[in-house]
Amino acid sequence: MTQAQDDLMQRSLACIWHPCTQMKDHEWLPMVPIASAEGVWLTDTSGKRYLDGISSWWTNILGHRHPVIMARIKQQLDTLDHVIFAGFTHEPAVQLAEKLCELTQLDRCFFADNGSAAVEVALKMSAHYWRNVGQPAKTGFIALTNSYHGETLGALAVGDNALYREAYAPMLMQPRFVTSPDCFERAPGTSWEDHSRRAFAHMEMALEQHAATTAAVIVEPLVQCAGGMRMYHPVYLTMLREACNRHGVHLIVDEIATGFGRTGMLWASDWAKVDRESAEPIRGDFMCLSKGLTGGTMALAAVMTTNTVYQAFYDDYASYKAFLHSHSYTGNPIACAAALATLDVLASENWMARNREVGHLMWMRMSELLSHPHVAEVRQQGMILAVEMMKNPSRRTPYPASERRGLRVYQHGLDKGVLLRPLGNVVYLMPPYVIESKEVELMTRTAIDGIHLATRD
Ligand SMILES: *Cc1c(COP(=O)(O)O)cnc(C)c1O
Repeated sequence: MTQAQDDLMQRSLACIWHPCTQMKDHEWLPMVPIASAEGVWLTDTSGKRYLDGISSWWTNILGHRHPVIMARIKQQLDTLDHVIFAGFTHEPAVQLAEKLCELTQLDRCFFADNGSAAVEVALKMSAHYWRNVGQPAKTGFIALTNSYHGETLGALAVGDNALYREAYAPMLMQPRFVTSPDCFERAPGTSWEDHSRRAFAHMEMALEQHAATTAAVIVEPLVQCAGGMRMYHPVYLTMLREACNRHGVHLIVDEIATGFGRTGMLWASDWAKVDRESAEPIRGDFMCLSKGLTGGTMALAAVMTTNTVYQAFYDDYASYKAFLHSHSYTGNPIACAAALATLDVLASENWMARNREVGHLMWMRMSELLSHPHVAEVRQQGMILAVEMMKNPSRRTPYPASERRGLRVYQHGLDKGVLLRPLGNVVYLMPPYVIESKEVELMTRTAIDGIHLATRD
């Protein structure tokens, strides 16, 4: 490490509290000071490059500093920086809302500025809807075990990950957690579809018993990302949509990580059709979007919903029916401009076909781990590929979390110039869509070698 690099790291550690970090780790784990980025590459202050194998926390879908997005942001800076969004509106927000309505086939767009805030909005809107239509008892939520929906108190409450939740449990509302359709848990010889279909019995039972007090079911479609990239079959979403309709409960689809083509379709929920005969994809009553929305450049989120929900809030002011939720930076024009450019780039070529090709290449390389003695599963959904490391796969004995096997992969990655950031014992690849074959080669080789190293003793 150069003197200048060490300087920046020390200054950072002296005054910044970094996210999702035990700061004491940095007594021995160097922090990486980044100076610039382009495409899939991050460059540190000494000139060393790192391939961004996790799209900078899943946000950067089109590569860093994409020229179209950069140009659109610069252009926006010449006209309007920001304006209060109550009582005022502007072209970038209107255009973006129009586009998102068209792409999601939903009717209304409410802006927020990060994923957790979008989840809060959806939860509040759902419960408030039921109150407005004269069913005030419907205030509860149903979520899946192993789910993740963000870190603010409401979003954290509907997540089921002890690591994030435990310390705050006494302050959190209590949703009903229903067994996840996660296919890692399937019995040997059972197909993904059968496993997910059977798991639905738990959901059906919860809805049958609690629909009267439940506002909404919230799910991450197909992939429980922060929960270790656990995946399930789209049939579950088809059944869930049907059951929510039947029981009069909203469905909140959290596409924050899976949206914008990550799973090989524009929305992960596009994989699920309303019924067996139909080509029509299921839709949530609420759809939460963020992360990839601005191509990883600006903080922005959107909650898409139906006209039915919107109309239940539409009344004279005195009725207390309005949705009086706001964030200072709602609909920020620069962020909206970045999102519009991102959607333009997404529409400009057939990214879904390209993603399936790149995904196939990732699979071809990573599948050599299928015979590894400490690999329990290699699974994939589009541009998300995950490897589950286990002490003894046949006995299903996990590595104790305290051994921090994933951290060894992280360190090996940094050494070789690849940013991998395993979730516990799950090593995953989630690169920007612009990644080239030779970069896939480097990323997969580094991940494979890292897994060999991390499981050697
Ligand atoms: C990241 C994430 C969130 C939270 O978004 P933030 O912008 O980090 O608050 C919510 N839901 C899912 C599925 C996510 O992956």
